Amino acid sequence: MQLTCHDCQQAQNTTWWGGYRSTCKGCTARAVARSLACFNAIKNDDQADLKEAIGRLFPAIPYEDARALVWEWWQHDHSQQEAVEP
Ligand SMILES: [Zn+2]
Repeated sequence: MQLTCHDCQQAQNTTWWGGYRSTCKGCTARAVARSLACFNAIKNDDQADLKEAIGRLFPAIPYEDARALVWEWWQHDHSQQEAVEP
């Protein structure tokens, strides 16, 4: 996982760290991972909102790469639970 700012580093070492930086790719991915769109993609197999959010928030990097960042943060937040990658 790329830890490119202080908030990402804190989030890596803390459960549900609440700090974000709007200019940080990792923070954006973490925010998406904690969104209803991501929840619905993973829990309800409804990926439309997640795909839209990732496309809108990560216009400069390939979709699969951005989704992988989001998935990493989901796994970090839910490391004690089982989930299937959308
Ligand atoms: Zn960050």
